Amino acid sequence: MRYRAVGFDVDGTLVQNVGYCWQTFHERFGVSDKVRGILRRRYQEGRITYREWGSREIAIWRALGVTRKDFTKVINSMRLTDGVAESLAVLRRTGHYLFILSGTIRIILEQLLPNYDELFDLVAVSDIHFDEEGRPVSFDPGHPLRNEREDKLLELQSLCRELQMDLSQVAFVGDNDNDAEVLRAAGLGIAFCPQSASARAAADVVVDSADLRSVLPHILGARGKV
Ligand SMILES: [Mg+2]
Repeated sequence: MRYRAVGFDVDGTLVQNVGYCWQTFHERFGVSDKVRGILRRRYQEGRITYREWGSREIAIWRALGVTRKDFTKVINSMRLTDGVAESLAVLRRTGHYLFILSGTIRIILEQLLPNYDELFDLVAVSDIHFDEEGRPVSFDPGHPLRNEREDKLLELQSLCRELQMDLSQVAFVGDNDNDAEVLRAAGLGIAFCPQSASARAAADVVVDSADLRSVLPHILGARGKV
């Protein structure tokens, strides 16, 4: 088998109608672009860590009185990508190690793909914790951070070490700027309906059909006729 493991991004890849879920939540909760821009710039300039960035965004939502129910409503407007269950079943049957590597928030998977923990061998996502009244209270990046910054490649490298696997044996499916590095480094990088020029340019293959089954022939090669 050419690729032993297959990794997936979530926002825009396993889940549609969303670029980055953080942005979607901000828009729906009425947080202005200006406020979001200030925090994003502080992070990009290295003045706050990834953990602080998430924590401050959550503090804004809490101040607005947002509760768990409001997240549920927003997630109801997102939908699972067509062909997810079928694709994962095929990749499982063909013996692939399956993982998620994503900056998304776990509540999205819990709602849209409730058996996600059984479908994947490893799920690396972020968490928001809620208090008894359903108010968001804390953020857990859930990832090893390089210099306190999000770094999917670092995470993939450490996973490969753990699995005693080379990066060339990994196929990764993603759609956005934060996937570009991993799409370039993986043995097979598949840009799935890419929302960014950098993801498109970094990938080995670009799939523009919004059905996850479209990635299977690229991963399985001649055995793609399933
Ligand atoms: Mg994405």
